[in-house]
This record gives sequence, C-alpha cells and structure tokens, in this order.
Amino acid sequence: LLEDTIRKGDKLIQDGDLLIVYESHKQMKAVTVSKGGEFQNRYGLFAHNDWIGKPFGSKVTGKKGGFVHLLAPSPQLWTLVLTHRTQILYIMDISFVLAYLEVRPGCVVMESGTGSGSLTTALARAAAPTGHIYSFDFHEQRAEAARKDFERIGLSNFITVTVRDTQGEGFPEEFANEVDAVFLDLPQPWLVIPSVAKSLRADSPVCSFSPCMEQVQRTCEALTTTEFRDLRTFEVLVRTYETHEEYFGTDIGLDIVNNEIEDATLHTPGSSPPHKRLCPTEMKTTSAEEKTTSNKSEVSGKDNWMKKGPKKGRGRGEQPQGSKCSIVARPEAEAKGHTGYLTFARRAV
Ligand code: SAM
Repeated sequence: LLEDTIRKGDKLIQDGDLLIVYESHKQMKAVTVSKGGEFQNRYGLFAHNDWIGKPFGSKVTGKKGGFVHLLAPSPQLWTLVLTHRTQILYIMDISFVLAYLEVRPGCVVMESGTGSGSLTTALARAAAPTGHIYSFDFHEQRAEAARKDFERIGLSNFITVTVRDTQGEGFPEEFANEVDAVFLDLPQPWLVIPSVAKSLRADSPVCSFSPCMEQVQRTCEALTTTEFRDLRTFEVLVRTYETHEEYFGTDIGLDIVNNEIEDATLHTPGSSPPHKRLCPTEMKTTSAEEKTTSNKSEVSGKDNWMKKGPKKGRGRGEQPQGSKCSIVARPEAEAKGHTGYLTFARRAV
C-alpha cells in the first residue's frame, strides 16, 4: 500500500501523486501533482515542481512566504477532502464501525450504499492487502464516481463497486455464507436484513447506520425476527479540545489553572450532563443553545484565565526564567452534533 511505503520513507513525491495539501485542521485539499502545475491559496502561489522529489509530510514555502504541509492520502484525511455526492460517515462513526465489525486484513466485507465512499475507503484500508470490500449502490453515476475516487487514491484493487438495488433485490446469492461483516447505510435497511443473514458467516457482525430512531426500531425488529442476536445501538458524539502550552510563574498559578482545566472538562457551561441521551429534535435546540452559551462562556472564561495565574509568557516561545510550563486544554465552542445511530448485531451460530 502507498501509505506503508511512505511511512517507511521509501517513496518521494512524484509527478502524478495524490497529495493532501494541509493548511490547518480545518483547511486542506486533495491535489494531484503535475509537472509545471501550480497551487494557489490565501498564502500565495506554490509551484508543483518545488514539491517533486520531497518526502511526504514536507513543509513547503510558497512564493509569498506562506507554507503548507504535503501529506500522503490516508482514509482519515480522505474523508475530510472528498467530494460530497451524498451525506457521509465521519471518522468518529467510522472508527467505531471498524472496531465493532472487527474489520482486519483478510476480511470480506459487504456494504450498501456506497454513497461518496467515505466509509468504503476506511474499510478497504483495514481489510487490505488480502481482504476485499464489495460495495453496492443503485445510483449509476454515484457508483462510477466512487470507482474513480478509489482508483485515484490507490485502493481500487481492494474494492468492487456494483450497481444494484439492494433494498429491492438483496445482496447477490453468490455471497451466501462467505462474508465476514456487512455495513448498511440505506433509507430502509430492514428490507435487506434477510439477505444479510444469508450472506454472513455464522457469528459474524452487521452494522446499520440510521439518522432516526424510528428507522432503528424497524431495523431491530427485522434483526430479532431473523437469526440475529446481541443487538446494541450506539450514538457517537465527539467533543474536541484546543490544547496549547502555557507558562506560569508560581506553583499557585499552576494550581489555579489545573483546577480550571478540571472544571472546564467536567462542567463545561452549556453542555449536557453526560448521562442525558437526547432525541434528534432536542439535539438541534441544545446545539444552538450550546453554541451561544459556549461562545459567551468562552469570552468570560478567557477573561478569568488571563486574570488568574501570574503568566509571564505564552505559547511555544522561549520559556521565561523561573516559570513552569503546562499543557492546557479547553473544549472547542462547537461540539459535533447528532449524525446517526449505529446498530450492531451478530448472526446466530
Ligand atoms: N456511507 C456512505 C459514505 O460514508 O460515503 C454514504 C451512503 S449515502 C448516505 C446512501 C447511499 O445509499 C446513496 O448513495 C444511495 O444512492 C444509496 N441507496 C439508497 N437506496 C438504495 C438501494 N435501494 N439500493 C442501493 N443503494 C441505495
């Protein structure tokens, strides 16, 4: 795999390579390197010729002095830059799915629908080099666009995309008892469950992603009336933290900040208590409220932060004499909201 070769340092950037041009964690772009080509962003103009021959991961400077990093395309980064032709799965759900479906090298996995191929890419990376992903979508253009994307990122040997109405026809008979895991991202997944049961090997897992609880309930009914057991439904919500280094002049200052970090982690103003499970409609209101409250609290929090602790310096610069350095973190104002529910089950032995 390209990623492995790059990690070993055996491959330098060449004409025709796909790169993720990384400006910040919120700003990156997929770019195919071409001799004589140019890349333009707010930091100025970058010549592709200056990139060729450099190791992946290099920091390169543009004509106006701004810089970007040239990263190798991994499934994690691809999910952030791919063209959205549908709604997609993001890394928080993807990692959960890979772990609970136990996808590992050699696995045969079936998926429907392919959509924009965000999950497919991660499935392929996890099952390669000996496994294979069979992905089905009834939308011809979408299937074709996904095939092109898989070719572009070098995973096409591990993925077969087929145009098929899986809700109407189920998965092909030839897969009976041959499949290690199945993933469904369909509007009516319950229609496909009998065919999933036929395809899966005994004791193998299935996962269905649905945004609404009503869909989850129907899928669970279908799973229990077919030969599935160990049903579990999860909702994955992520809260990201900003981290940076701070220098503090005295032990007292450090203690105050440490307490503040603990407070911020445990009692973020406006956030829901961790045990409270929200339905999608509640979630919308709460996210909006949370945004306003968190923004307010961020301002007042920052004031307190600045007043407390006799801080002498800041950031990664030179450490002022006699000061102590600590990594501090605070939750980002915007927490990622509801995407969907993941329902897992296992085919009976
Ligand atoms: N999981 C994908 C990703 O991460 O990029 C996104 C899947 S997208 C939300 C749902 C896909 O299911 C669409 O591409 C749609 O065309 C496909 N689909 C809907 N009904 C289908 C059916 N009956 N048979 C096959 N595919 C179907």
